[in-house]
This record gives sequence, structure tokens and C-alpha cells, in this order.
Amino acid sequence: MSIATINPATGVTVKVFQALTGAEIESKLELAQYIFESYRHTSLSQRSAWMHRAAKILEEKREPLGQLITLEMGKPLTAAIAEVEKCALVCRYYADQAPEFLADVPVATDAGSSFIRYQPLGAILAVMPWNFPFWQVFRFAAPALMAGNVGLLKHASNVPQCALAIERIFLQAGFSAGVFQTLLIGADQVADLVADDRIKAATLTGSEPAGASLAANAGKHLKKTVLELGGSDPFIVMESADLESTTTAATTTRMLGNGQSCIAAKRFIVVDTLFDAFAQRLVEKFKALKLGDPMRLDTHIGPLATPTILNDLDRQVQTCIRQGARVLTGGNPGAIRATLDLPLQRGNFYPPTILTDFPVGSPAYQEEFFGPVALLFRVKTLDEAIDLANSTSFGLGASGWTQDPEECDRLVSELEAGAVFINGIVKSDPRLPFGGIKRSGYGRELGIQGIHEFVNIKTVWIR
Ligand code: NAP
Repeated sequence: MSIATINPATGVTVKVFQALTGAEIESKLELAQYIFESYRHTSLSQRSAWMHRAAKILEEKREPLGQLITLEMGKPLTAAIAEVEKCALVCRYYADQAPEFLADVPVATDAGSSFIRYQPLGAILAVMPWNFPFWQVFRFAAPALMAGNVGLLKHASNVPQCALAIERIFLQAGFSAGVFQTLLIGADQVADLVADDRIKAATLTGSEPAGASLAANAGKHLKKTVLELGGSDPFIVMESADLESTTTAATTTRMLGNGQSCIAAKRFIVVDTLFDAFAQRLVEKFKALKLGDPMRLDTHIGPLATPTILNDLDRQVQTCIRQGARVLTGGNPGAIRATLDLPLQRGNFYPPTILTDFPVGSPAYQEEFFGPVALLFRVKTLDEAIDLANSTSFGLGASGWTQDPEECDRLVSELEAGAVFINGIVKSDPRLPFGGIKRSGYGRELGIQGIHEFVNIKTVWIR
């Protein structure tokens, strides 16, 4: 895969980048190693001041940075700007909370004094995806840098300008050169990096194959990893749920990032008595969405990030249809393309789609649909809903919609997921840990747990 900005709304190649040479990678690794030795001794108040400055730069440049996100991966500009603002939030959160999260923790034992001290590990490699090209990076970098580590970013090959812009933000904020570096490299160069002694740990957000490959290499070299992988989040609607707010929330979550969010609800599991009304209302809301140029502020849905994603999604949809699933709306990308203005007809647009009535064996039961496609399932009871929700190999997020406290308790306890939201869509929040179980990955980002992933949790015992 070439490293390039290719506008997903038009298919036009905007800028192509050369991958770093072996010698260039070597000098960046050297710099990371060298700078870590001084950076680790900077005070928390100094790091905090730099991190606050990074937040300020993000806010000041929210519009051009948002435009860069939209240009490279196609999410609507309003969502892109909101993503940049959220990055400022996570910078401020860790700038303010790190002193408390990293303070020594006394523990009473038989020692005169015993305590836990948190110390940085060194250079951490972050392999990141394009779907939230700023947020994914900042939610790694803010805690990692506050903890005294240095970061090396291998970003997705279709967002190189975002990757370079992030490096510049940290430099402009006052962090020394080398504390955060972007490596423009292909995925095939990651294994060598993981093997390198100067890399102490790695984190990857992306697909299962990429995660498994990185973790296998890291295992070979005995390095810690955090993996944030895919999901097929269930959205369970019980009889007491309010139809209007639930279908509005269902539309919002399914369309996050043009449908390309790991924590977007993908399977809508609705109790029989509400199913038909829910489906009808959802169809109306999907049909009302405006698809088009993502740079326009009135656009709801932009293009998918790459032609491959579009083709993969369409293959899944057409397989479901061939096997007997019913299309409630959408499902025909050719038809929607013909309605768009000329330059957009070469873009990766996919219509908001709703499918239901899946025969056993349909990909809808197991696979992640990474685009604006809602899969609707009808169930009779809460037991059936929970069984279906838990029947995938994923375990990222889950949401349940009910006013019944007993149903709420059961959803919270029985759903197999890293996060359960009741009467709200699954979202990430700097204050709350984020991550999955099962094949959605392991480890946590955000919250106090996130900053403790890449530190030496040192036990100190003094007689
Ligand atoms: P992807 O292909 O796995 O790419 C993600 C990153 O991994 C990119 O930087 C990619 O580089 C790199 N990569 C790919 N193969 C690799 C390998 N064998 N070894 C090392 N690095 C490799 O992911 P995607 O399909 O573009 O992204 C969508 C997936 O990410 C979805 O499954 C989504 O659910 C998941 N995701 C999860 C979270 C979460 O927090 N759990 C958040 C966002 C997205 P290249 O671009 O150069 O190939």
C-alpha cells in the first residue's frame, strides 16, 4: 500500500510520500533512545505545561486540522473538527491528572516503608488506524508522554499528512525533538521495529489480523502490547425503550465516521413487540441522511476511506442478500453514485443501508460491517437478546435501551464487552477506561488504567 493522501470523496491522488529508508528509521530510533534519557527526568509540571500547550494548538487549529482529516479519510468536516477538539480534552485531562495517577502509592507491609512507584519504559511504538486519525493517536500519546515515555507513530498509510501534523503539534507545544516522532513506513516494516531493542512496548489499534501479527512478533521478543481491535457492538432495545430517542441514537451511532467506527453499534437487537415500529422509524431516519461532499457542513455522510473498504463492505452486504436477507433501505452503491455531482462519482460512497431477516450462517451474525450498514435482529426475550449479543467473537462495547431496572442489571452483568452503556450510545471519554475483551483486544486506554499500561509498576520495599 502506498503512503499517500487520496481524497476518498473524489478518488484524486493529492500527495504521495516516500517510505523512510532503513537509515532514516535508524536515526529516528537513535534519537528516541537518546532523548528518552533526558525526557524521563523532566518534571511532571513541565510535561503538563507542554501538554496544555498542545491542547491549545489543537483548539486554535481545529479547522485546518479538521479539513486535513476530512481530506484524507472522508468523515464530515463537523465530525472532524469535533475529533480535534476531543484531542485537546484528552491532553488537558492527562496534563492535570498525571501527577495524581503517577504519584507513589504507599502500601502497608512488614517493611519500614513500602510503596509502588510508576516509571516510564522508554520508546513505545504506536500503530494506528485512519478512522479517527487524530483521536486514536492522542489517546495513546497524551498518557504515554505524561508518564515520561517517548512515542513513535506508524500511522495508517492513507493519513500521512495527519501523521506529520501530529508530530508538528508536539514540537510546537515545546516537547523536544524525538519525544514524539512520526515514521512514514509501510506495515511490512513494523515487525523489524518491534524486534528492535530500543522499542520497549507497542500498541496497535486496527484489525484483528494486524493485531495478531504485531502481538505474535512482540511475544517473540517478550514485549508488552495493548491491542484495540474490531467490534460488532450490539444495541439491544427492550419494550420500555422510547422509540424516538432510541432510533435517533441508533442512527447516530451507526453513522459515526461514515459507519467506520469500532464502537459504532452494528447489530440492532430489538424485542418483537417494538421491532416493526423501530425498523420503520430507522428507515425514515436513514433515508433523511444527506450523503455527499464531506467538506460541506450540511453533509451527514461522506465516503468510505478507501475503495477496498467499500468493496469489502459491499461483498458482505451482497452475500447477506444472496443468502436471503431483506433490504429495508440502501444496499445499492451504484444507484447512489449516479445521483452525486460528477467529481464525487469517483468517490467511495456507500448508501445508508438496513438489512434484516438473516438466514443462519449469514455474515451478519459474526462479521464486523465497517460502513453505514445496520443489521436488524428480532428477538422475543431478554435471554435471547443477550445470547445473540454475546454470540460473536468480539467484545468491545454494547448498549442496552430499557427503563426496567432488572433488565438493566442483567445487561450490565451479562453482556460480554469491555463497556456497557445503558440508554446511551457507546463512546470514549478520557475519564473512563476504554478497551475490549475476546477478539476485540486487550489492555485499556484512557482513565487511570490507560496511563498505567506503559509504565514499570515498581515495587519498593525498604526495611
Ligand atoms: P488495519 O488494516 O489493521 O490498519 C491499522 C494499522 O495497522 C495501520 O497503521 C496499518 O498500516 C497497520 N497494519 C496493517 N497490517 C499490519 C501488520 N500485519 N502488522 C503491523 N501493522 C499492520 O485496520 P483497518 O482495517 O484500516 O482499520 C479498521 C479496523 O480497526 C476495524 O476493525 C476497527 O474496528 C478497528 N478499530 C478499532 C478501534 C478500537 O479502539 N478498538 C478503533 C478504531 C478502529 P497500513 O495502513 O500501512 O496498512
